[in-house]
Amino acid sequence: MDQFARLLPYVWRHRSKVYLSMFFALVVALLWAATLSMTFLVVKVLLQGQSLQSYLNSEIQSAEQEIIKREQELRELDQELAELAFSEASINAVPGAPKSKKEVKLLQQQDQRRRQLSVASHRFVAGQWIQRRMLGWIPEDQFNTYALILCVLVLATAIKGTAMFIQDMLVGSVVELSVMALRKDCFRHSLDLDYQTLSLRGTAALMSRFTNDINIASDGLNLLGGRIVREPLKAATCILAAFYVNWQLTALSLVCVPLMAVTFHRYGQLLKRASHHTMERMSRIYKSLEETFDGMKIVIAFNGARRHRLRFHHENKDYYRTSMKVVRIDALTSPTIELLLTVAVCFSLLPGAFLVLRHEDSIWGVKLAAGPLQIEDLSVLYVLLAGTLDPIRKLSSIYSRLKRSSAAIERVFEVLDWKPALKQALPIQLLPRHSQSIVFKKVYFKYASTEEVTERPDALTDVNLKIAAGEVVVVVGENGSGKSTLVNLLPRYYDPERGSVQIDGIDIRHVRLRDLRSQIGLVTQETLLFDDTIYDNIRYGKSDATHAEIHAAAEKAHVTQLFDQLPEGFETRVGPRGNRLSGGQRQRVALARALLRDPSILILDEATSAVDAQSESLIHQCLGDFVKGRTVFLITHSVTSQILEFATRVVVMEQGQLLATGSHEELLQSCPAYQRLYRAQTTGRSDDSLAEVRLNAPVTGSNVEASAAIDPPHVIKFAPTNGDVANHEPRRKAN
Ligand code: ADP
Ligand code: MG
Repeated sequence: MDQFARLLPYVWRHRSKVYLSMFFALVVALLWAATLSMTFLVVKVLLQGQSLQSYLNSEIQSAEQEIIKREQELRELDQELAELAFSEASINAVPGAPKSKKEVKLLQQQDQRRRQLSVASHRFVAGQWIQRRMLGWIPEDQFNTYALILCVLVLATAIKGTAMFIQDMLVGSVVELSVMALRKDCFRHSLDLDYQTLSLRGTAALMSRFTNDINIASDGLNLLGGRIVREPLKAATCILAAFYVNWQLTALSLVCVPLMAVTFHRYGQLLKRASHHTMERMSRIYKSLEETFDGMKIVIAFNGARRHRLRFHHENKDYYRTSMKVVRIDALTSPTIELLLTVAVCFSLLPGAFLVLRHEDSIWGVKLAAGPLQIEDLSVLYVLLAGTLDPIRKLSSIYSRLKRSSAAIERVFEVLDWKPALKQALPIQLLPRHSQSIVFKKVYFKYASTEEVTERPDALTDVNLKIAAGEVVVVVGENGSGKSTLVNLLPRYYDPERGSVQIDGIDIRHVRLRDLRSQIGLVTQETLLFDDTIYDNIRYGKSDATHAEIHAAAEKAHVTQLFDQLPEGFETRVGPRGNRLSGGQRQRVALARALLRDPSILILDEATSAVDAQSESLIHQCLGDFVKGRTVFLITHSVTSQILEFATRVVVMEQGQLLATGSHEELLQSCPAYQRLYRAQTTGRSDDSLAEVRLNAPVTGSNVEASAAIDPPHVIKFAPTNGDVANHEPRRKAN
């Protein structure tokens, strides 16, 4: 239940509806007990041949007699007390002395008589009231009386049904509104989390929480507001009525309550654990689905269907196994509770029947009824206890759903409990448009991993780099050398483990994320577009951009040139993740999006790797204009002469370390690693027919010169040098 408490703030906003629903629940409960109590009248009329009028008369008479009797008794008690006081006063004159035993007993008797008198006078008054007001309505004839009782029963049930309907509607709306707010909060919180935390958790885990788990949670909340309020109230009113009919026998039936409580508790624990497991398994199913459908192309190309089917089957079976645990416990709850309840009812009915059949009021000297128990009393007791049974049985069947929902809420709130790994350092500093320098100072970084067993090597080790504003830095290096990691520190996808990144002398941890990111334009390796039109995808870079600005950005990134192939032009929808465009087309749109932002820092992480050589050359031409007045990081595998025209510096990365930095010519002279990369580039020329021969050919200095001489300058290209050179796919194929 502790989990439900966390939902209170959400529910509290709609408290007026909650109160109203509770009122209706109370109406339902009262009518429930009232309709059941009518059995009493039915038995009276049908079995004992009385009409309601005569019954009422006899009731009033008996009440009157009781009043007279009790008053008489009270007078006698008063007298006795007075006498006692007098005799004791003569013996022991100390005022305020402790009362004698006899006096205490008399006082207790007096109390009891007074109470009985009050009950009897209530009965008398109520009887008279009914007689006065309703006598005209109450038929004399027995059958008519019976028909009337049934009419009242139907009417009461109709009112009860209406109250139930209103209550359910109220609760339903409170639940849906609360869950909606919760979902919203979770989403907002997830968006506030940092990239690292989210990517570690995985999309599937989040998706399953947002869909499956929240649904289960709302189911429980619905029950909590609806039946969980109503059913116990129904049970309680019945129990109270039963106490009124005969408290001794009713109390006897309560002996099983502790046993029931223990059973409920134990099953609850088991259920919660099992439910946690099922939801965990469901999230794995999501993961499997996500991976399969996202990687459909590869699944098809590599005939991976069987493999994925097996994996899915495995996850599915796992889910089945854990769900069966829940089902088993769930299935056990109802029968167990029902058995206990029946035993409980028997505990009171057996002695009750004994009293009725033997015309007695006590068993083994224990008084169990005020007078000999009447058959109508026993039957109404039976009906009332059965009326208690039904709500509790219902409760037991929804108990499991409640527990599951509690587990689900726990999982949903886990999302809200995830703390972002990025902390805003204080004091907060304003970052004016970047105009001085970007400094990486003794930066160390290691990726976090969920499996704590294997330590990952540092992705960046002691990186020191100072870049003046307006520089165009070309970052080169083998795959996995840490180029992307380095530039990803700028928009704070991650924070360095040690060291700092400074823009214009301000540690970026002190800058508001929003301010920081508003200055950065980014095109990543895996270009992601949203399922929208090209126009809107570009506008994503700057939501208040004018039409002309968007056109200009599209022009620079050579998006408009695509419109021969995309007849709908800007209105072309790109499909989920942009999958209706080719890789190169996607990259161009992503580039336009980044350019539109008019960033002071532009990061192009292999942004044109899939763009065809001609367009790439054109884009680079335009970039030459665009990069003026901006600091640019350009990660690329192909350093073309065009890039070199506007590049001010080349940075070479190797195994997370910054190996060398300088101009292209300097590095060719001084940095063996750069030379190696450069040579590999020249041998990996993109002439498809020659590529294989050349890639396998020994790399020599003359080779470099020769190929450089015959190649058009912009197709010089770096091939990865780490062993998989031979597998390197010629870039021309990328489109
Ligand atoms: P590249 O120079 O090719 O851009 P990266 O910076 O992407 O290289 O990667 C550097 C190293 O960090 C690699 O060894 C890679 O395995 C590791 N790495 C990259 N991204 C992650 C990640 N999200 N989680 C864990 N390790 C990563
Ligand atoms: Mg990379």
